[in-house]
Amino acid sequence: MTQSTRYPKLFTPLDLGFTTLKNRVLMGSMHTGLEETENGFERLAAYYAERARGGVGMIITGGIPPNFEAMGGGAKLSTPEEAAEHRIVTEAVHAADPGVKFVMQILHSGPMARTPLCVGPSTVKSRVSPFTPNALDEDGIEKQLSDFANCAAMAKLAGYDGVEIIGSAGYLLSTFLVERTNQRDDQWGGSWENRKRFPLEVVRRVRAAVGDDFIVIFRIAAMDMLQDGLAWEEVVDLAKGVEAAGATIISTHFCWHEAQVPTIATMVPRAAFTSVTGRLRKEVSVPVITSNRINMPDVAEAVLARGDGDLISMARPMLADPYLVQKALEGREDEINTCIACNQACLDHTFSGQVSSCLVNPRACNETLLDEAVTPQPQRVAVVGAGPAGLAYAVEAAKRGHKVALYDAAGEIGGQFNLAKRIPGKEEFTETLRYFRRMIELHSIDLHLDTRVDASLLKRGVYDRIVVATGIEPRKPDLEGVDHPKAVSYIDVIMGRKDVGQRVAIMGAGGIGFDVAELITHVGTSAAMDVDVFAKEWGIDFTNHPRGGVTGVTPEVATSGREVTLMQRKTDPVGRGLGKTTGWTHKLTLQRRGVRMINGVEYLRIDDEGLHARVNGEPRLFEVDTVIICAGQLPKRDLYDQLVSEGMQAELIGGAFEATELDAKRAINQAVRLAVQVG
Ligand code: FAD
Ligand code: NAP
Ligand code: SF4
Repeated sequence: MTQSTRYPKLFTPLDLGFTTLKNRVLMGSMHTGLEETENGFERLAAYYAERARGGVGMIITGGIPPNFEAMGGGAKLSTPEEAAEHRIVTEAVHAADPGVKFVMQILHSGPMARTPLCVGPSTVKSRVSPFTPNALDEDGIEKQLSDFANCAAMAKLAGYDGVEIIGSAGYLLSTFLVERTNQRDDQWGGSWENRKRFPLEVVRRVRAAVGDDFIVIFRIAAMDMLQDGLAWEEVVDLAKGVEAAGATIISTHFCWHEAQVPTIATMVPRAAFTSVTGRLRKEVSVPVITSNRINMPDVAEAVLARGDGDLISMARPMLADPYLVQKALEGREDEINTCIACNQACLDHTFSGQVSSCLVNPRACNETLLDEAVTPQPQRVAVVGAGPAGLAYAVEAAKRGHKVALYDAAGEIGGQFNLAKRIPGKEEFTETLRYFRRMIELHSIDLHLDTRVDASLLKRGVYDRIVVATGIEPRKPDLEGVDHPKAVSYIDVIMGRKDVGQRVAIMGAGGIGFDVAELITHVGTSAAMDVDVFAKEWGIDFTNHPRGGVTGVTPEVATSGREVTLMQRKTDPVGRGLGKTTGWTHKLTLQRRGVRMINGVEYLRIDDEGLHARVNGEPRLFEVDTVIICAGQLPKRDLYDQLVSEGMQAELIGGAFEATELDAKRAINQAVRLAVQVG
């Protein structure tokens, strides 16, 4: 099958009148944090140029503030000198592929800017910002408008093909639109006509500053996910106004940062929100972009075929695999390194002030640091353990031309990912395993499954380099009754090898404790696999589209009916160590299912009565049928110790190197960085 029959819609060019997009896929805007690092523009140039070579039709940069108060630091664009720095990036992208359209996002964070000088329509503080905004007066509003126009003009000077104006998410423009943040009674507030005035004026000023032959995208909050967000009629009216004011394209966005609905995390079904874009598309004549959890070409094609958008925005999927579009074009979809929507190395990094990257692709944003050179001196490498660390090392080394043998005691590759993929909401992990399986084939890695390796197998002299990626062993706490029949390991529970009773204590509230709680309280279809189930679980009404898209009623959540207590010894709030941008969703889901969370627990013993403990010093008996032990992990180093005792050299990676606070992000990152050093 040729690509044109496989993805006829995806690869149809889009004529914008003055210019043409070569296909329907764009890389959505993501802040990388590179602008603020040493050699940041050179690193950005390499990062975007690689995505341009990867076949995408349009790239939108991370948000660039038009002035200081818009962000509070960061690489603003308001002067020709600053525009000259951006030229490093625009030239690299256009040199990589002159057919790619490169668009800069203008981001005015408004009340969310990281500065006490931040501004807004009124002095209403954002729940997710430490600062109360300064209410703009008439002069202040005029300054912001002309700074937007100036920034767009500077973007044109810098060599961009267009700008995107973000009018959603709780940033400045969206705070003018809704009454919760716009409490003015002048021409910029009060009635809907007045509240929409500022965003529309921004579009008009930007269009006037850049002329006709320049792409202007407006990002609209098609669903704010807030009860007092925009009504559907307001969304439509705004879209029409934006079109009339000169926008070339409208991009649909879903959520404010303050919203309590997950919109991009891994428990969100693929393409969950596109029907809303489809409805808006019927109301305007400019092309409309849809987005959110569209991570594979077949999903994108189906969305276009349904008429749910003219263009597909894929942001994180382009971090995970810059060549996604090219691979789809050439029928190599099974080689796509799929974004699993974990947020662990991208958004979690952004929100903690680190440079973004990607859990499944640590080269993302590190293109200048992790080269892809092929070695002139291939080595014979044995990798023991085909979990994420061993897989990543083996594939990176093989790509570079080394001769790699990969061993695992299990009958399938993946290590602990074979446990993770069984957790409802983590179905995407199977894609990573599919990718690695294909890479093993493609790079002729000599795979030995069902092979428990000992030192005798790795005979001296056969390999130039031995890499031990044998992972972890679950920690068994030193506790009376830990071998009691009520006590079971998380592995047995996840693999369905042990029955779990009605009343359950989970000992350990780390990532695995939370996942086990999810598994044993879950019932029915996974929300990640069904938009209706997802909508019901999070109170979204796609059909009637109430204000903000949400019902406002606390959703009734289905549960297995088990009484579950999730506990930890630390006195910190339970769940503090979970992902910055996703932890709250896991916690809220379990709380809605009635899972109790207790900290400050001292475990005493397990016996026929249940789990005996002291909670904040007070004795307490948890009368449970099952105690699931999720008490962390220890490095599995038996093979390594054996090799060392026999005088053989080996490298440790992943959990075998360090089990404390290990996750797949660290395992894969360490593996790739070491494999690059092999030469
Ligand atoms: P492992 O995955 O443990 O792999 C080690 C491999 O070595 C195994 O396949 C084993 O069979 C093999 N092996 C051991 N000894 C030998 C031997 N002598 N010979 C041959 N083979 C051997 N991380 C995240 O980042 N995000 C998540 O959302 C996430 N969710 C998780 C959910 C669950 C339920 C679990 C259990 C883990 C989760 N993790 C998550 C953690 C992540 O899976 C681990 O950090 C990662 O798998 C560690 O990789 P590794 O390669 O070091 O070890
Ligand atoms: P973890 O996050 O380190 O949690 C271990 C838990 O066990 C903690 O609650 C700890 O809390 C408790 N504990 C430690 N020693 C104990 C002992 N001797 N007796 C009783 N309890 C003890 O590890 P994990 O849950 O096993 O997860 C392993 C790794 O996989 C994690 O690092 C995590 O990042 C990763 N993972 C990530 C996700 C994700 O969604 N991102 C999901 C699953 C797993 P106290 O010491 O306070 O009791
Ligand atoms: Fe996707 Fe996770 Fe990579 Fe972010 S870190 S791009 S969510 S796979």
